[in-house]
Amino acid sequence: MFKKLRNYLFDDDLDINQRLFLLNLINICSILTIVWIETLFMNSTVGDILAIGLFALAIGLIGTVCLRKKKIKTGAAIIDFLMVFIFFPIIYFGNGGIAGTAPLWFIYNILMISIILDGGARIFFGLSQHIIAIASVVASYLQPDLVKFSGTMNGIKQYIYSYTALFLIGISVSVLLYIENRLYIRQNEISRKQAKEIEGLVASQNRFFSSMSHEIRTPINTIIGLNEMILRENISDEITEDAVNIRAAGRMLLNTINDILDMSKFSAGDMHLVIDNYRTGDMLSDIVGMLWLRAKEKNLEFKINVAPDIPTELKGDEMRIKQVLMNILNNAIKYTKEGTVSLSVECDKKADGMINMIYTVEDTGMGIKKEDIPYLFTAFKRVDESNTKHIEGTGLGLSIVKQFLDLMGGKVTVNSVYTKGSTFIVEIPQKAASDEQIGEYDYSKKHKLARKNQYTQRFIAPEAKLLVVDDNDANILVVSKLLRETKVQVDTAKNGREALEKALDNTYNLIFMDHLMPEMDGIECFRAIRSQVGGKNKETPIVILTANAGEENRKLYATEGFNGYLVKPISGEELENEIYRQLPKELIQVTGTEGIVSEDKVAWLNANRKKRIAVTTESTADLPDKIVKKYDMAIFSLRIKTRDGIFREGKEIDTNGLLKYLEDKNNVATPVLATVEDYEAFFAEQLKTANNVIHIAISGSFESSSYPIAKEAANAFDNVTVIDSRLMSSGQGLAAIFAGRMAEAGMGVAEIEHRLGYLVKRIHTSFMIGNMEYLARTGNASQIYANLTRLLTMHSVSVIKDGVFKSKGMIIGSDRRAWKKYILLCLSGRKISKNAVFITYVGLSKKELEWIKTEIEKRHKFDAYYYQQTSPVVSISFGPGSFGISVVDEA
Ligand code: ADP
Repeated sequence: MFKKLRNYLFDDDLDINQRLFLLNLINICSILTIVWIETLFMNSTVGDILAIGLFALAIGLIGTVCLRKKKIKTGAAIIDFLMVFIFFPIIYFGNGGIAGTAPLWFIYNILMISIILDGGARIFFGLSQHIIAIASVVASYLQPDLVKFSGTMNGIKQYIYSYTALFLIGISVSVLLYIENRLYIRQNEISRKQAKEIEGLVASQNRFFSSMSHEIRTPINTIIGLNEMILRENISDEITEDAVNIRAAGRMLLNTINDILDMSKFSAGDMHLVIDNYRTGDMLSDIVGMLWLRAKEKNLEFKINVAPDIPTELKGDEMRIKQVLMNILNNAIKYTKEGTVSLSVECDKKADGMINMIYTVEDTGMGIKKEDIPYLFTAFKRVDESNTKHIEGTGLGLSIVKQFLDLMGGKVTVNSVYTKGSTFIVEIPQKAASDEQIGEYDYSKKHKLARKNQYTQRFIAPEAKLLVVDDNDANILVVSKLLRETKVQVDTAKNGREALEKALDNTYNLIFMDHLMPEMDGIECFRAIRSQVGGKNKETPIVILTANAGEENRKLYATEGFNGYLVKPISGEELENEIYRQLPKELIQVTGTEGIVSEDKVAWLNANRKKRIAVTTESTADLPDKIVKKYDMAIFSLRIKTRDGIFREGKEIDTNGLLKYLEDKNNVATPVLATVEDYEAFFAEQLKTANNVIHIAISGSFESSSYPIAKEAANAFDNVTVIDSRLMSSGQGLAAIFAGRMAEAGMGVAEIEHRLGYLVKRIHTSFMIGNMEYLARTGNASQIYANLTRLLTMHSVSVIKDGVFKSKGMIIGSDRRAWKKYILLCLSGRKISKNAVFITYVGLSKKELEWIKTEIEKRHKFDAYYYQQTSPVVSISFGPGSFGISVVDEA
């Protein structure tokens, strides 16, 4: 029985709660049974004997039924209910109150509740037990008569009874804790074992992936290599087409294997960067070299633009950066039917020698729906499948891109307009390894931009003797055939032992060595050749030519001392490059024109470099043209509705025209809210020339503010930030100027947003309304009020405070007197910066403006005075004769 119980308690297949529940049940039932037996001998009342007996029986029954039915939670709740709400008060009031055995049961109940209950039930019963205990103590204090002592027990019996309870509860608490502790230790051991097992599984999965990669690379090597031989022949167009398709399929398969290998490394946390110095120009040349042809094959224009201030040398993981860029550029080419794919490269220099490299890849392809953008970087996820299913892909590329960028501390953002095109912006922090700047680099210089399939012989080396060691006949065939045109003499060996024999008697200029071979593998053979007694090839360069891809393999071969590392499948060009590098130059006769540059060169060197940040705002910002031009700011035009239709401010309708129209009292003009689509189109347009957009919106607190609309539109893009200026008119304009200046100074989006938060607090904008009639006409004031103010020559002054229009009271008097007072009001009581003042007005003459300027100058001299007629939206509410002053507090 005891053994059975033990087995049950330590049976790891059973739920832990179920086991703890049983333990508790046995505990309670045992205690209650012993207490019940005790009552039989203690002259207890029949009532007590019956109550305790029945209670023990009930708990036993309920517990057993719930355990059988696996309703552990219900069972625990019922038992705790009985113990807390019924048993505890009975024991408290029936057995000596606070001086009796109730406190022991209190501890027991609390312990039981915390062990077998969880979540809300634990809190509920725990709290209930405390409340009932407190209530009982208070009640017994106020009414001591309520507390009784057990039946007719007295003297020594009472002591025995109390001690038994103490003993039983003590024992059961220790049993409970002991077993709980044992279970905990056991559970820990199990978890440790499981973690080890998982580790083992992951390691074997990794081994599986890398051996799978090796096994697949070997046959692909044959397919791609021999296919290249076919393409070099003079074959019909039809066969050429087939061979080109075989090549594409081979590359695709290879990419997929590489992706799966990378994913498995990431999931095992086994991906590491290899940091070294690299030449920026060479890296970009390699990318251009690899992609230019692919773009050309699809008839796409491929453009590249590199800022001249990029350091010639950087420190980072060149291979992985190439992989990231290739992935994104490949996608751009893959998902674009016609138009252009461009890469522009810039850098942002930080103080500590760190450089933020910014690569922007832009295409005019199918674009990505905004709701799909969050899923782009999820592994195996392909979006917009109705349009992309005919395009080959696994959905792994961007997920790998994201993981590499996370590893490098970089990031990628996407701006896309569905059906129009996408922009991927990659930022990677790198260390500058040289102070030299790249200048105008010729990316075609290093690369021979080979034309379609046409093999061009670059050199011959008929005197050179090569040894190719590989156990696979097809591999030997591929290498020999790929080298045919170079006229090198190729000798072959089928394993390490044979190679060693040949190396003893023949002097080779270069040896290509496979790694995994029967009898003697490549590494053993390499060591043997290097130390061969009487061997003729102790100094001969030996290049490992293997299907073992991956950085750790590269390291392994480098440590062994191999002179080069080539991964199968190998192309003719790679093989030739390696031979060119390794052979003594006197053996090589150059025949081709090294680095043929096509006439397309000019076309692909002129992508527009984008602005880092474009600051935009709305027509309500009332910015003078001069400033709009200076900061190259795009202005979103708000719309006005008149009886003749809807017009865009500044573009289709101007303030003077509108005021004229409103001279007829029957005419009304009202602002029309822009739509999310309008803003989306506006932002998309800006993103054509900038990587980021900061849009300074009118105060979001105004009833008809377009801020929430702009904000919603920004959600469609990764790089559009909409900032609530909490201002309007020139105030909003000043905020935009601040942002423009900060962008010019090279600050990032987050910093500009942060600084603007407190800069706008220094801006003060107010208005003196010329004619209440206009407010009445747009329904913002009553007609009677308008008439009254005109009659009493009252001029209303409004300020924009905390983003809201607030009345600053009325100024009474003729126009000029009121203006004077208003100017005084604006310019006194504050330390105002003397840089500039903005005067926005509605329908004032030049002379009137001159007058205003003179009045302003009397109080405060500014370096610059900007005058701007308010936008139509503002003018239709304020009417002619209104003007506003915007100033900035001193810093
Ligand atoms: P895939 O192997 O499918 O190309 P990726 O992870 O590289 O996998 O990309 C995920 C998905 O993102 C693609 O299936 C495609 O729908 C979308 N995508 C990526 N780049 C572009 C782009 N430049 N234009 C349009 N859609 C793109």
